[in-house]
Amino acid sequence: MGIRRGETVEEAVMNVRKRRMHHAGILNEIEADITELKDKHCPSTEDMSMWRRGSGYKASFSTNETWRLLRVNFTQCSWSRSVWFVQATPKFSFIVWLAMLNRLSTMDRISSWSRGVDETCVLCKCAPETKNHLFFGCSFSSQLWEFLVKGMLGSAYTNDWNAIVILITDQSMERKKLFCVRYAFQAAVYALWRKRNKIKHDDKPLPLSALQKLVEKGVRNKLSLMRIKGGKGMQGILQYWFGARL
Ligand SMILES: [Zn+2]
Repeated sequence: MGIRRGETVEEAVMNVRKRRMHHAGILNEIEADITELKDKHCPSTEDMSMWRRGSGYKASFSTNETWRLLRVNFTQCSWSRSVWFVQATPKFSFIVWLAMLNRLSTMDRISSWSRGVDETCVLCKCAPETKNHLFFGCSFSSQLWEFLVKGMLGSAYTNDWNAIVILITDQSMERKKLFCVRYAFQAAVYALWRKRNKIKHDDKPLPLSALQKLVEKGVRNKLSLMRIKGGKGMQGILQYWFGARL
């Protein structure tokens, strides 16, 4: 095309001369672009760096728009808001996120890469340990879950993982109730996963009643803070929690 290796766009545009048609279509497209640039070329103004933004090239830089241009957009995950929500406790959300993706090292998963391991649930000792069993199909863990949320959920109460995920994703639920159920869910998953790991490492585990009290107290402390910085619709959330205790 008569463009030297290392030539700048400006040099290529300035040195452009009328050429015949090329055989390769892409070369004709480059030729057309160069001609267009030459027509637009304004030799009296200084060159300046421009940033590509969502709405075209601009002189100012935006990390937000650049990130959006670089990232691949996936459809939003239906349950993401029930894992990552305002005022959530990050270490709880993280464990719940792993559980949602079935990435916790439950015994059914461990046995798939380490044959011969004992798959029995260490909490009830009478069923194979899977994510759905641990949260909250297990006769032990279901008692913690029931203790925390049965009073709020009433007839909608369930200990089936998939049904719980649908429940905590329901944006139509009253705000205070939705927060309490989501937070109690995360606190319970975290506490049970910790307890399960402690038993695995021969640590002395808490009895059920002590665990129930401990988790409930953690939820109450959170709700107590929410009175101060919980935001709109969260007034009286602690009273709501007390009112829903069985
Ligand atoms: Zn169990």
